[in-house]
Amino acid sequence: MLAYLLGRAGVAVTLLEAHQDFDRDFRGDSLHPYTLELLDQLGLAQSLLALPHHKARYFRFHTPAGSVTTADYGRLRTPFNYVALMPQARFLDFLAGRFAELPGCRLLTGAKVTDLLRADGRVTGVRYRDKDGEHDLHGGLVVASDGRFSKLRRLADLPAHSLGASSDLLWFRLPHHDSDPPDADVDLFFGRDHYVGLLAGPRGWQVGYSLPKGGYPAAREAGVEPIRAFLNQHIPWLSDRTHLLVDFTETTLLSVDISRVAQWWRPGLLLIGDAAHVISPVGGNGILMAVQDAVVAANHLAPALLGPGVTDDVLQAVQDEREPAIRRVQADQVRIERQARRARETGRPIAPPALLKLITAIPGVRARSARANAYGPDRPALSPALASFPTTART
Ligand SMILES: Cc1cc2nc3c(=O)[nH]c(=O)nc-3n(C[C@H](O)[C@H](O)[C@H](O)COP(=O)(O)OP(=O)(O)OC[C@H]3O[C@@H](n4cnc5c(N)ncnc54)[C@H](O)[C@@H]3O)c2cc1C
Repeated sequence: MLAYLLGRAGVAVTLLEAHQDFDRDFRGDSLHPYTLELLDQLGLAQSLLALPHHKARYFRFHTPAGSVTTADYGRLRTPFNYVALMPQARFLDFLAGRFAELPGCRLLTGAKVTDLLRADGRVTGVRYRDKDGEHDLHGGLVVASDGRFSKLRRLADLPAHSLGASSDLLWFRLPHHDSDPPDADVDLFFGRDHYVGLLAGPRGWQVGYSLPKGGYPAAREAGVEPIRAFLNQHIPWLSDRTHLLVDFTETTLLSVDISRVAQWWRPGLLLIGDAAHVISPVGGNGILMAVQDAVVAANHLAPALLGPGVTDDVLQAVQDEREPAIRRVQADQVRIERQARRARETGRPIAPPALLKLITAIPGVRARSARANAYGPDRPALSPALASFPTTART
């Protein structure tokens, strides 16, 4: 997103992607109303939404003691009053395609960054490897948006401090049936020892089954039967197809992490997205946070890159503007992690407090909570100058 916004503003951008394509499974598929409104502002929403997606209206959680609909996006006053669930690979293909059309911009796939280039205490570029060997690339700024296991973060010696995730997730897919509850969209089901995240989508149900951190070898040893049993007990309407999960090889293990670096930059280098702050999948807002980082970064960086250059103050300004929202989102995620851990340790499943049940029955409360989730704690606007840049930009 940042590469596209800068490229659209007339900055010459090279985007390096380690893999040949974006086709990886289970990367988070949710495009929130904020992201859809931004794409609309950029003139891209209509063509993106012509691709297969599922419009999720509700966010709910279920416990043995009852269910709570915490968010009802349908009550938002926007044409995009839903979360679009679309395989992330399709979204990235779409955006990368639009980016590569911009003058002065190029997308290099199969290009893995292996080192930072430095001069006079500043990052001045990257070294990357592709099928033809190693290459050096110099630029006015390097942006590390290389995700939770960021190589650039390590190279820059900017350690991420863990805030205490206590679970891992096993992901797999189950087919959708026409008889499935029509309002099941984004649902969390809490049991005593595990929770399950269920996500609708054009390719069926994505299921995320939690394991205690480091519990993978034991779970693998136990096989898929305990997973099927959990699903049968907590999501009875799925039980007619849990037999389709036959083997652990059909699952993908994803280590849940919640962490943040103290400083998001070094002279000449900026970290954004998961590289700066890993967001847990609970709440499904990692993509939203990464997109909002991109908007704030573009607002600050485009004038600097097109003008006097990027100073340390500009980089600090990006962090200052985004960090409070990230802190709030991560604090909520840590709280949910703690509740899940307490449930495991005490043997008492999570139960929605009576007050929460009561207040979320009020439509206005569900609308407010949908708004908070749809736009995040902060709602950064794209600067008018960037919004109005023509797509046939200068280089
Ligand atoms: C299991 C799981 C489920 C999730 N579910 C959701 C969800 O439902 N909704 C949601 O909003 N968020 C979800 N998230 C979080 C979300 O996926 C991330 O927050 C988001 O993808 C972060 O975007 P990013 O661009 O910072 O990093 P990434 O999406 O991780 O992208 C990093 C990119 O950098 C590339 N790269 C890495 N190293 C190099 C290198 N050395 N050189 C060149 N390229 C490199 C990678 O190949 C990758 O394409 C989930 C996360 C996990 C782990």
